[in-house]
Amino acid sequence: MCSGRIDLAFILRAFSNGMDGVFIGACRLNECNYITHGNYHALSTVLLCRKILEYAGVNPERLRIEFMSAGEGILFAEVINDFGRKVKDLGPLGSSEGIDEDALKSKIQEVAKLVPYIKMAKREKLEARLENKAEYDGFFTSDEIDKLFNEVVSYYIDPEKCQACMICQRKCPVEAITGGKNRIHVIDQEKCIKCGTCYEACPPRFGAVTQISGEPAPPPVPEEERTLVRKSA
Ligand code: SF4
Ligand code: SF4
Repeated sequence: MCSGRIDLAFILRAFSNGMDGVFIGACRLNECNYITHGNYHALSTVLLCRKILEYAGVNPERLRIEFMSAGEGILFAEVINDFGRKVKDLGPLGSSEGIDEDALKSKIQEVAKLVPYIKMAKREKLEARLENKAEYDGFFTSDEIDKLFNEVVSYYIDPEKCQACMICQRKCPVEAITGGKNRIHVIDQEKCIKCGTCYEACPPRFGAVTQISGEPAPPPVPEEERTLVRKSA
């Protein structure tokens, strides 16, 4: 219905499913039927995604957005033919990048897991409304994307400190924490969207949730070692 509906996750999913190129056709800028101007949002998403693809090692030329009206059939044909030629020249995903296709796909899948975090971290920028397309060019910089990924945090529950109060488990918005009564709680890093709620929620007297950046979270405590042994017992 609206190009503003295009989510970062959709684009990354297409590439991780092996698409060699992704084209987004949007209405002409400043001709949106809605006050939301979704096509500007789509433009920001594409610019951000191109930087992310570059970071992951994918040629950003594989993603394109163009603006046109439903009546501009000739323009549509020209743009699609041009994009088709471009993608053909680049070859299958991974060939112009010099990376094995499967390795590239799994890299994209890893990045895709961070989409909720990226959207949170870049929320203000994604919602910013600039005056014209020229102002959008260079809106997201490579340095900014490098910084974004270098600063990605993970949350980890220190098994030595967790008191199994279950507060974090109840508050996690995506049910990424497993635990229970007298069970040391564990974060499923695959499900975690890095919202930081558990970090805020864990009572300071326990301080069991830690923030880790620049390195992966330690592996989870094995199931059979999760029964809480209280010091007083
Ligand atoms: S950071 Fe957010 S999503 Fe991740 S485990 Fe904590 S509360 Fe759940
Ligand atoms: S809130 Fe803290 S102490 Fe309570 S279960 Fe979660 S990590 Fe453990």
